[in-house]
Formats: sequence, C-alpha cells, structure tokens
Amino acid sequence: MADQERKLNAFPVFMRVQNRAVVIVGNGEEALAKCRLIAQSSAVLRVVAGAPEAALARWIVDNGAEHIAGKYEAAHLKDAILVFAATGEENLDRRIVSDARKSNIPANAVDRPELCNFYTPALVNRAPVAVAIGTEGAGPVLAQMIRAKIDRLLAPSLGAAAILAASYRVAAEKLLPRGNTRRRFWKAFFSGDVSDAVALGDLSSARRAATRLLRSAGDLQGHVALVGAGPGAEDLLTLRAQRLLMEADVIVHDALVPEAVVAMGRRDAERLAAGKRKGCHSKTQEQINALLVELASRGKRVVRLKSGDPLVFGRAGEEMQALRDAGISYEVVPGITAAFAAAADFELPLTLRGVASSMVFTTGHDLKGQSLPDWAKLAVSGATVAVYMGRTVAADVSTRLAEAGLSPDTAVAVVENASRPDARLFHGTLNDLPSLADRDDLDGPVMTIIGDAVAGANLEKSNPLARRKAAIAA
Ligand code: SAH
Repeated sequence: MADQERKLNAFPVFMRVQNRAVVIVGNGEEALAKCRLIAQSSAVLRVVAGAPEAALARWIVDNGAEHIAGKYEAAHLKDAILVFAATGEENLDRRIVSDARKSNIPANAVDRPELCNFYTPALVNRAPVAVAIGTEGAGPVLAQMIRAKIDRLLAPSLGAAAILAASYRVAAEKLLPRGNTRRRFWKAFFSGDVSDAVALGDLSSARRAATRLLRSAGDLQGHVALVGAGPGAEDLLTLRAQRLLMEADVIVHDALVPEAVVAMGRRDAERLAAGKRKGCHSKTQEQINALLVELASRGKRVVRLKSGDPLVFGRAGEEMQALRDAGISYEVVPGITAAFAAAADFELPLTLRGVASSMVFTTGHDLKGQSLPDWAKLAVSGATVAVYMGRTVAADVSTRLAEAGLSPDTAVAVVENASRPDARLFHGTLNDLPSLADRDDLDGPVMTIIGDAVAGANLEKSNPLARRKAAIAA
C-alpha cells in the first residue's frame, strides 16, 4: 500500500485531564515510569500500590500523589479518567482493564498491547505545546529517537512563547485581517524579537516587541537568512540552519549545495537555484542581490543557502550590502567551511604544535599579478594554506609559492567532494600540484591544503597526486 493510503490503527488525540484522577496500579518500575509520564500533566495521580518498591514509594511522597496502600479493588477506579495497569501480573492487569471498561474508563496495560484502549506516546513537553509520538507499539526505540530529534529542534522557551501568544490571540484577530497578514504576524511572533526575548526570559521586552509587531503587522517585512549549508553532508548542517530551512518561504541555493540538503527545507517552500558553478553562471551576482531584495520586500522569509560558510568566498558581502541598502533585515548563520571538512577527511591538523600556528584561506586567483600577495609570505613562514577554487590555478599556485621561497617538497593534500560519500583524497608535494589542473577525472569541488602541517595527515585513504606513468607492459 502506498504510504499516504496507510491507515492509523491508533488515532492521536489530546485528552483533558486537568484536576481529574488518573489511576496507576502497580508496585514497581513500570508504575513509576507511568507516574513520571502522567505527572507532566495537571491530572491528579492516584497510585494503587500495596507494596511499592522503594523508588516508587519515595516518588509518591516527593510528588504528593494520592497513595492507596492496600490491595487493588474496582472501587479504586472511581471517577478516574484514565487507568494504567502496571502490576506485571497478567491476570490482575486483565481484571483492572476489565473493571475500567465496565465504567467506560480508557485503560492501558503496560506491555500488553492487546489489552490497551490507548497507547502512551513518547512526549516532547513544552506545555502548553506538546508533541506526542506514537508507533502503535511497533518501535519504542524509534519513538525515543524521534523524540530526541524533535526535542533538539524546539526551543526550551517555546511553551512560554505559546502562553504569551494566547494572550495576543484576541487582539490579533481583531486587528489583523484573516489570511496572509495574520499568518505572517504569528510566524514573526514565533521566530523574531518576541521569541528571542522570551528565550532570554525577558517577558516585558517580549510583550513590547509583540505589541510593536502587532502595530506594524499590516506592513510586515520579509527577512533573509544567509545560511551556511556546510560542505555537502546533510548532517553537517547546523541545527539553526535546519530550523531556518523548515521556516523558509523561499530557498535560494547555489549549485554547489547538494539536492539532499536543499530538500531539508519546508516542503512547500519555493526553491530557486542561483547557479554559479564555474563556467555556467545562471544568474549574475547583481541578479541574485536583486532577487533577494525583491523576495524579502514581498514579505517572504528567504533562506539564502550557500555551500560551506556563507562568509568564506561566498560573496555574502555584496548580498548583505544590497539588503542593508534596501533596509531589509537579515542574519548570518555560519556553516562548516570546505577547508575544515577536507581537513577532517584527511585527519589533518590545520594547526600543529611547533609546526604551524596560523592558517590562510585563499583562492590562488590573486597570484597572477606582478607582486606576490601577503599570504605567500605567510606560507613561507609556516602557515597552513587552504586554497578554494584552486584547481585551474594549481600550476600558478605551485610556481609562485616556490618563487616566494617555499620548498618544492612542502606537503600538499587535495580533497575532492570533502565530507561526501564520494570524497577522494590525494597527497603529494608542491612540485606535484600543477598536475591537479590536468586531472579531468575530478569533477566535484576540490580543496587544496598546503603546508608542513599536512605531514600530520593520515594518508591511508589517499592516493598520490601525481599519476606516475604506468610501466609499459612488454
Ligand atoms: N563558502 C564555501 C566556499 C565557496 S567557493 C565554503 O565555505 O566552503 C567554492 C569552493 O569551495 C570550491 O571551488 C572548492 O574549492 C571549495 N569546496 C566547496 N565544497 C567543497 C567540498 N565538499 N569539497 C572540497 N572543496 C569544496
């Protein structure tokens, strides 16, 4: 059956339990686990435990739960809204469930799904916001994994923000037209100054920001986030980048950002490729700047997704200038730059005690002029040099650095598609570097790292950079 046709056998609902009795029957760990779960709500806990284990007994006292210390009787379920049978004895659990059913009280028997009217979810609690994860018992571990993921995704202050939002609901409904404007107000409420202030615990600032937002909501502005997508592996994206991708109306991405990373954005977000691959500029930088300004002016939340870190050879300077000139709010989210990913693949220490204590990010495209750029001198004095976009200029980099006095034996590491499953590693010396330009078998992005620190790399997975002439077979 196709995924979308598959039916749930257990349908999730949120049940009102405030001040209502939830009965848990059992003496041991299972009962305690349910106590802990239900104690996340404002229900009144009634624990039926004739001989509670020490931890449960302590918990009951510490949490002021009602304790019935005798043997279970049907009368204990009186006025209950939910019942948990956690005795560990099948017959007793069965009896409890059947008693509950007679009184129309939904019941759950721990580890006996066939007896349950309902299952308990894995819970992410940001009261009043709750995310409940259910697998119909198929995968408790899966549910916990999902829970952990969602927990990381949601700010701890989300509940406080939701409570504040509730106090603005009436005003928003009165002042803002239904539809886009109202939707945008709430989006801004939960993502901008208001939620930032709530996160800092500053509720009066949050209220001021919310009121300001409400007043200006008619002409809400868009926002651009310049986001680093990292070197290509999806799990090298930051959590913040992921959150912004989930909130984006539009994602404008470079060609170097793999499809899988772009696909992490909100499903109905518009996706625009800005191109910019060597040799096929599908849009000029000016066009991209104008596009960002235009989208944000239309009130869109834009994620400008750039490979690696947006501030490293990403022309972010021009984009930020254009956004500033147009008065559009923006932010920058750092990413893992290619040099760091390449170094990680090579297990290469970029700084190495006693060998290299500084590092240079360069393109090598500035080596063509008459005078040597400063970084060549840094290389000679021992800096580790990371060369971006260095494939076609490999020969220039090699000759000019040698001219500047760098030994032709200086170690060089090259990584194609760093961090990705198809990464390829090569090593050699400054002397071998020119051969990089002739290697037409490399079609992914290539990072070159030069310096004595490269000697500390792990060459096990690496091949020689210069392809030795194959011995001619007789
Ligand atoms: N902002 C990016 C760099 C953009 S310039 C960053 O911080 O990484 C593009 C150059 O980055 C490529 O020519 C290549 O040299 C390098 N690059 C980007 N991704 C790479 C990867 N996965 N492996 C190796 N080099 C990469």
